[in-house]
Amino acid sequence: MRVKITLACTECKQRNYNTTKEKKTHPDRVETKKYCKFCRKHTLHKETK
Ligand SMILES: [Zn+2]
Repeated sequence: MRVKITLACTECKQRNYNTTKEKKTHPDRVETKKYCKFCRKHTLHKETK
């Protein structure tokens, strides 16, 4: 079952990405390094509620 999640930059708290994840394989919060256009660099993005 795939659920929609929002990824937010941990440095500026901007919500930069909407994506989906498989809840079975990722029961916890997803953390990924992605480009943040507000920080103008790659930062850690975390799943928000
Ligand atoms: Zn940022």
